[in-house]
Amino acid sequence: MTAFWAERAWVEGDVAHGVRITASADGVITQIDTDTGCCDGDERLDGLVLPGAVNAHSHAFHRLLRGRTHADGGSFWTWRELMYRESARLDPVSYERIATAVYAEMVAAGWSAVAEFHYVHHAPDARPYDPPHAMELALARAARAAGIRLTLLDTCYLSSGFGSPLEPAQRRFGDADAAAWLARLSSLRSRLAEEHPEVVVGAAVHSVRAVPVDALERIGAELDPAIPLHVHLSEQPGENEACVAATGLTPTALLARSGLLSSRLSAVHATHLDDDDIAALGAAGATIVMCPTTEADLGDGVGPARRLADAGARIALGTDQHAVVDPLLEARALEHGERLASGRRGRFSPAELVAALTRGGAEAVGRRVGALAVGRPCDLLVVDEASARTAGSDPGQLVLSATAQDVTRVIIGGRERAIRGVHTDLGPIGDLWRKAVLA
Ligand SMILES: [Zn+2]
Repeated sequence: MTAFWAERAWVEGDVAHGVRITASADGVITQIDTDTGCCDGDERLDGLVLPGAVNAHSHAFHRLLRGRTHADGGSFWTWRELMYRESARLDPVSYERIATAVYAEMVAAGWSAVAEFHYVHHAPDARPYDPPHAMELALARAARAAGIRLTLLDTCYLSSGFGSPLEPAQRRFGDADAAAWLARLSSLRSRLAEEHPEVVVGAAVHSVRAVPVDALERIGAELDPAIPLHVHLSEQPGENEACVAATGLTPTALLARSGLLSSRLSAVHATHLDDDDIAALGAAGATIVMCPTTEADLGDGVGPARRLADAGARIALGTDQHAVVDPLLEARALEHGERLASGRRGRFSPAELVAALTRGGAEAVGRRVGALAVGRPCDLLVVDEASARTAGSDPGQLVLSATAQDVTRVIIGGRERAIRGVHTDLGPIGDLWRKAVLA
């Protein structure tokens, strides 16, 4: 048993005072007391304690593009060519090194769980690795080394567009058809259950442009309804136009017709939606994974997050391409996008932003994470209330003033994993990138 005590902690959607959090040896919260003093032997946490942040959308290897794609202008589609160039170079060894570094970076920033939207399945010539699942096992080992809770979303990726086969750069992402992907997913679930039971295996369809209509329908009929399902949705107007031209439906309407729109669906980006799309996603109780720093970086646009929340959708956050790996900046960028698009302030309250960072991602990662409550994992991040950025802030509004620089301690499953930006097992994150990845 371990007990933590904090002057302030985020309990039931607000700042509570004098909070004692007791955790079992296996890292689950067994008791929470408020308005209480620090006892002998308690681990004292100085600052505001938040539940560990939940990163609902990651492509680990995209971190390689950070700070290297800004020279020649371009668009989402030209950025994608640079991303394909990096994906072509990956092998299980380099994928594990990169993922270890980026997951460690996430942990040090305050993220304690991640949904990895993984599609680099096969060798560059598209042949399956032998033994199988080499890339997926590399991600599982990386997450174990970093101490982050991994939800591995194995992605179905079958076409380059409506009626178009995979391009050469995409061939290593693909499977022969939906049945082959479902079979590989089933095999992966068995393998990880044996070797990495800590990993939650989920599924993704890359996008409506990458999975043909008949395959979407088969997946809707056959995929285990108990596992998380993610999809990139309407990130670019071009996807919507191609979908309407090919099917007569918007991407959201196509997912609904295919039996994929439900409360277990996490729709990533959801940037370019019409009124019917918003109503349908809200009525389904889907999770919407906004990735505001990525959407700004790629020039995607500002999605209708407030309207989706008002319609009934759950808002989560993801770092996607990792141009920024900072939970507090991600939450702030969600609100800033809303302000810039609407001309109004306070579109999401500070409490709603904390919710998006934490319990908003629970369904997306298929875990009962994101709240300081009995029975939940003891995942904590501590925000310094007295830094250059935060001194004088109302503790309830720190989500709008702090950055990851102010995350002083990160505890996952009751175990300390990072202190002031340094990973307790893997060391300073910059060193990790320089020595292990970029050398
Ligand atoms: Zn993505």
